[in-house]
Amino acid sequence: MLTDTYRHKGLRKKLAQELAKSGITDQRVLDAVNKVPRHYFLSSAFLEFAYENKAFQIGAGQTISAPYTVATQSQLLKLKPGMKVLEIGTGSGYQTCILCEMGAKVYSIERQKSLHNNAKTLLASMGYKAHLIYGDGYKGLPAFSPFDRIIVTCAVPRVPEDLLMQLRPGGFLVMPYGEGEVQEMMVVTESEDGNFTSEIFGKFSFVPMLEKRNSAR
Ligand code: SAH
Repeated sequence: MLTDTYRHKGLRKKLAQELAKSGITDQRVLDAVNKVPRHYFLSSAFLEFAYENKAFQIGAGQTISAPYTVATQSQLLKLKPGMKVLEIGTGSGYQTCILCEMGAKVYSIERQKSLHNNAKTLLASMGYKAHLIYGDGYKGLPAFSPFDRIIVTCAVPRVPEDLLMQLRPGGFLVMPYGEGEVQEMMVVTESEDGNFTSEIFGKFSFVPMLEKRNSAR
């Protein structure tokens, strides 16, 4: 049974205040952090750490991103309620819930079957209506395109062409770009006339984006 106590709520409020001090200015991001119980996404052994600004193992060799990383990507998306967002790398589903709280219609792809299944069960029990898909994020979701925004939550060694093709003109993609331990947060924008431009926003560290689906674990 998932319980959200006053203590958890207090820790969450403190986390949102810390994020505000660290430069997160989008109030809807802070409100969403304040609302989504992050401790539901960590195994019970780590409950004490759920509201620290740290990444954590979520099984299958993957991690739930640190709150500052989630907040930065969410802020860079400049979301408006009702926007259609594609997320690559559902992982624990925490980032997915933050986007739902911000009013987005979220489609999220995960290549690890076990993580996809866990997120599906958890988000349904929390009442979130995101569309969770088991598949390869490199391909995106052409059937549901175009998207207003695309967020990639694993490190991308090359710009995924298929994803750019699924952006609405004027839309943009936020992704950690690069190989190796540390990547640069990149925003790639498609102008109304179909040209692409990119901007860089600081360094972060993500697990790598891998090709194809993996049902092994
Ligand atoms: N947004 C997540 C972060 C998860 S870490 C959260 O809030 O918890 C990145 C995730 O990307 C991992 O779960 C990994 O399995 C997934 N991933 C890696 N390559 C992928 C691909 N090609 N398609 C879809 N998901 C992928």
